[in-house]
Amino acid sequence: MASNTTKPANVQHAPDVLSFFLPLAWVSLDAQRRLDGRECARCGSTAGLRPGGHAVTPTPDGGSLGWAVRVCQTCPPASAVCDSAAAVAWVVAAGAVEDDVLTAWRWRRSVAVPTGRLWDVVRVTRSVGLTILSRLPQHVRAVGPVLEVPARETVEFLVPRGTAATWPGVRGVFCVGAGGASRLPSPGMSVTEGRRARCGRRWLTRLEPHRTPTTHGGGLLECLLTELPRR
Ligand SMILES: [Zn+2]
Repeated sequence: MASNTTKPANVQHAPDVLSFFLPLAWVSLDAQRRLDGRECARCGSTAGLRPGGHAVTPTPDGGSLGWAVRVCQTCPPASAVCDSAAAVAWVVAAGAVEDDVLTAWRWRRSVAVPTGRLWDVVRVTRSVGLTILSRLPQHVRAVGPVLEVPARETVEFLVPRGTAATWPGVRGVFCVGAGGASRLPSPGMSVTEGRRARCGRRWLTRLEPHRTPTTHGGGLLECLLTELPRR
């Protein structure tokens, strides 16, 4: 296994509650202190706290709760929605054609973006994906972009480039690397905004490509290997 799949040194049970839409059922006491503003929403520090924007926790009925959180002096506050221009630049850097992106996103469609340049994609069934997403905070500090694809009943995790080539074969897990593509909706098609692209795709995490462009591959693999045998 490649060295970049080792467990992160700073694994903690409380996740960055700003990058991760933590389901209410999974809010630990540690996470609760971050949601309540008693600790930095991202790192748990209590020094020099300032307003940090809103964290979001999805509720079982399909709704969501917003929490006015605080961040320390070194952690950035939340942006309400990923800046649209930054998102366009991000997918163009990944190999998409800018005109295609602008046209597709204007009409609430998703756009084909090549995999293997900035990221690979790990695809699992929807039920596995939602379970994994709820347990990921125990394995990684922050979660990168995660996409729900209702037409395929799958969930897709963006992971570091090269993951597809280095992961062991895991039953029920499909990796897409160089030569593949995934269709991505605009940042506003998300759980927080309550919107989907016409094809049904939407983001399950806050899109912060400048901060958390991918989910740690080793942490995701560890989570899958821990969770899949239980099913
Ligand atoms: Zn902090």
